[in-house]
Amino acid sequence: MIRGQSYVEEMDRYSWSEWLQRQNIPPRVEKEVFIAMSKALNFINPNEISATILLTALNRFLQEKNGSKMAFLDGSPTERLCQPLVDYIEARGGKVRLNAPLKTIQLREDGSVASFLLRSLDGQPDEEFTADIYVSALPVDPLKTLLPQPWRQLDYFQKLDGLEGVPVINLHLWFDRKLTDIDHLLFSRSDLLSVYADMSNTCRAYASDTSMLELVLAPAQDWIARSDEEIVAATLQELQQLFPQHFTGDNPAQLRKFHVVKTPRSVYKATPGRQACRPDQRSPIANFYLAGDYTMQRYLGSMEGAVLSGKLTAAKITQDYAPGPSLASNTPPAAIAASATP
Ligand SMILES: Cc1cc2nc3c(=O)[nH]c(=O)nc-3n(C[C@H](O)[C@H](O)[C@H](O)COP(=O)(O)OP(=O)(O)OC[C@H]3O[C@@H](n4cnc5c(N)ncnc54)[C@H](O)[C@@H]3O)c2cc1C
Repeated sequence: MIRGQSYVEEMDRYSWSEWLQRQNIPPRVEKEVFIAMSKALNFINPNEISATILLTALNRFLQEKNGSKMAFLDGSPTERLCQPLVDYIEARGGKVRLNAPLKTIQLREDGSVASFLLRSLDGQPDEEFTADIYVSALPVDPLKTLLPQPWRQLDYFQKLDGLEGVPVINLHLWFDRKLTDIDHLLFSRSDLLSVYADMSNTCRAYASDTSMLELVLAPAQDWIARSDEEIVAATLQELQQLFPQHFTGDNPAQLRKFHVVKTPRSVYKATPGRQACRPDQRSPIANFYLAGDYTMQRYLGSMEGAVLSGKLTAAKITQDYAPGPSLASNTPPAAIAASATP
């Protein structure tokens, strides 16, 4: 880290376990500190995660005043995060459309975007949507399936094949009593669980005298296809070890309600070598840009990373389309122009 960001990027060839071994750091440290951190950052263990991810996070913790600060949204993301964004956009004349998924990216003869075809969900014909500039903020996995054939020969888009979402499971468990008073995010290094919190303590909107735990189950590869009941049963077994005082004796804690959210492809799996696959927000297509946490930005696969990527995309569009002769750097390549289908 002291050797700077170029060293951090170079370490993308090693897993975190390999990097620790090269520094002669004992396995005990990996087990006690870095399993939890690795799972919290990318839902995988230290033997899978790229050393660049951990080094980048540690760098942020050390260099940025609020780098290690944690915060909770005090309510549901739809109401507390998304709705204010919608209000902001609409107050400035923008429009946010839900239930209008992108079905096809239609091309002009020169390989640039002619329109987005939006899938109709109510039996009406699909809608052709045109714009001056098109930005994809889709996660990388669905984007790859929608790339037009002529673009797939371009190195920029081919590199996306190296990025794939990692499976993760989120559990919401409501209990009949308080299990803990801790008002903070908690980290587990058990085989099954990653970060978790008692939302009845951490979020005003969920404040209660009974616990509502939200937990991340990771790595989830072996669990994603299993039934919700199996997943909950395995999680409760782990909770018995974490809170033995509440799950043993004559009157053990009872689960009142549960909800299991499976995400088979979440953030891109940050194994060694992935940094080279992350695209710049500016694509080689004149009127097409990418945003999303997987694009190259300094905050890894995270909400902050997604926001920063959007800012970088906006900055690049402004650079390219501000009055002046800057469009030349972003004209469609000849190979595409020759083979594109409308
Ligand atoms: C269980 C879990 C816990 C997490 N915890 C944290 C955390 O504590 N802190 C943190 O910073 N990050 C966390 N993350 C990661 C964070 O959620 C992501 O990094 C972030 O949401 C990425 O934002 P994004 O805009 O790039 O992509 P997304 O949030 O995935 O947004 C992409 C959008 O594209 C939409 N879409 C897909 N296909 C189409 C289509 N064909 N047409 C139109 N739209 C489409 C999707 O519905 C989605 O709304 C967590 C992720 C998971 C799964």
